[in-house]
Amino acid sequence: MGDYRHKKKYGQNFLKNKKVLIDIIDSIDVKEDDLVIEIGPGQGALTKYLKLYGCNLVCYEIDKDLKRYLDSFADNKTRIIYEDFLKANVLKDISNIKYNNLYVIANLPYYVTTPIIEKIISDGISVKGMVLMVQKEVAYRFSARPGTKDYGAITVYLDSYFDIDLLFVVNRKDFDPSPNVDSAVVRLIRNNKEGLIKNREVFNKLIKDSFSMKRKNIKNNLRNYDLKNIEQILFKYDLSLSDRAENIPLEAFIEIANNIH
Ligand code: SAM
Repeated sequence: MGDYRHKKKYGQNFLKNKKVLIDIIDSIDVKEDDLVIEIGPGQGALTKYLKLYGCNLVCYEIDKDLKRYLDSFADNKTRIIYEDFLKANVLKDISNIKYNNLYVIANLPYYVTTPIIEKIISDGISVKGMVLMVQKEVAYRFSARPGTKDYGAITVYLDSYFDIDLLFVVNRKDFDPSPNVDSAVVRLIRNNKEGLIKNREVFNKLIKDSFSMKRKNIKNNLRNYDLKNIEQILFKYDLSLSDRAENIPLEAFIEIANNIH
């Protein structure tokens, strides 16, 4: 847009397809008394449509050179914060806002996708849902089902917080400039599985260990664990120690983790 020079280091590929922008916003049911955090508004392509909902809006943009596009969006319900989201004190920034549900919307630079989700979880930001544009392959991994090649540690980790759907694939031509990869939009809606996990650290370590060597089976990857106990749990799910982690559903991982003493 105009004479702006896109910064590759910030992943600045701006969305220019109006239908995609509207489909992203429409994929969650935002109400006036909700709060939306937009990460990386860029020149405001999504921000413009988000404003139509009249919701509370807090946008984090790392690049101050975009002020000239974004400042005009600021008003009593919209705040633009020029800061790296990964370093922001989000809970403090939103502490004065009264809202019902909290959503995150972002067309993310690909290299920060996972750190951003991890920050949202570890900072205890109580999101009800997130709609994220991510690299297509990452979207496949996030939304994979057990028994498929894309199902991995990140899938199980995210499944333990969110129900995840891949909504649609976005053509690289829909961005300015076009990135070298295809993208897809995923929707993550908070589920209640987190409460089923007795010890988060134990659970996270179990998934990391289970997928540590992708081609090895559970017996090999978890050889330092109580395999007898794990075998009994796997049996209930029609699985055995010779299965690979990619066949094990979240519920079985939770049961195994909850039985590690
Ligand atoms: N939302 C806009 C759109 O859809 O056209 C821009 C998307 S562009 C892919 C990513 C945006 O995120 C850029 O404006 C970039 O400057 C910003 N960004 C990159 N890293 C960031 C970070 N760590 N915190 C906040 N914004 C960031």
